Amino acid sequence: MTAKIAINGYGTIGKRVADAVAAQDDMRVAGVAKTKPDFEAKLAIRKGYPLYAPNADVASKFEKAGVKTAGTLEDLAKAADLVVDCTPEESGYKSLYEKAGVKAIWQGGEDHGLTNLSFNAAANYEECLGARFVRVPSCNTTGLIRTLYPLDAHFGVVSVLAVMVRRATDPGDSKKGPINAIEPELEMPSHHGPDVQSVLPKLNIHTIAVKVPTTIMHLHTVIVDLKKAASAEAVLDVWKRVPRVAFVSGGDGVRSTAQIMEMARDLSRNRADLYEIAVWRDGVHVVDGKRLFYFQAVHQESDVVPENVDAIRALMELQKDGRKSMEKTDQSLGIGIVK
Ligand code: NAD
Repeated sequence: MTAKIAINGYGTIGKRVADAVAAQDDMRVAGVAKTKPDFEAKLAIRKGYPLYAPNADVASKFEKAGVKTAGTLEDLAKAADLVVDCTPEESGYKSLYEKAGVKAIWQGGEDHGLTNLSFNAAANYEECLGARFVRVPSCNTTGLIRTLYPLDAHFGVVSVLAVMVRRATDPGDSKKGPINAIEPELEMPSHHGPDVQSVLPKLNIHTIAVKVPTTIMHLHTVIVDLKKAASAEAVLDVWKRVPRVAFVSGGDGVRSTAQIMEMARDLSRNRADLYEIAVWRDGVHVVDGKRLFYFQAVHQESDVVPENVDAIRALMELQKDGRKSMEKTDQSLGIGIVK
């Protein structure tokens, strides 16, 4: 079966999900929906993705701008098997999808309560098999789950404190900031801890977040109290064996997120994306046998992209085995070559 996938919202995440879907042999892009007839809309058409407008009013705006649409979102949802909703949070399309009888996946801007099921391919693929609606949590949450889930499975986790240094906005955005300030998130815990628990409900995690003037990546400082004693080598060995965690090293000249993104550009992937979570190999330390410290960096624009592809496979039951889905996705996107 080739699943017909619609993408509603063709911005930072939607564009990447569309390209990743197009790279699979068991799903195809049925169309993408956008609110503005801008350069992204024109490039979507050039890529061969049928373009839809959210409603008839917007469709006439597209028409006036000389951008041809294939219909409205309602038409697209009816023609598709599943919609990946990549619109900003609370855009409110759930009832449209329900009416169209189509499955849907939302992104991390939405609350877990919208679907009551949040997805991470390594942690709960099987739980999401055949589900109607699911949410892929945010880039930061996905990053934390990628490294914490295997630690919990191998050594047990007593507690986690993660301090997140967050990018101000994405590189393509010139509206948001800060551009010359450091902004603490005063809510405690930040929403990331409870969000991790939407997938790993038993994990005892506390998170703190600070926003800084950078656009390229987030950086996490993570402190974990393990149940079983482990060396830094044993921890690295566990991460070496799990997908979507890559190692970088200060010794190799990777001193900051700038060099990580330079490395990502050198990999010549689509849009220079780094789908993996980058962990500093020489930044992993264990004190007193059980207290682990590490640093990881998250390419916010792309780490959730392979998760969306696997979530499609789980919901559409295209593959019952999560590991096999991850392997297929990773091979199609060139993931796994940095270890
Ligand atoms: P974006 O602003 O880059 O793109 C959103 C797209 O949706 C744009 O094409 C916009 O025109 C369109 N849109 C806006 N309102 C719409 C509406 N009412 N109906 C249809 N389309 C509409 O946003 P993004 O960064 O791609 O974020 C999308 C979702 O992904 C959010 O839930 C966000 O929290 C989540 N997310 C973002 C990132 C990131 O770093 N950018 C990372 C992980 C998850």
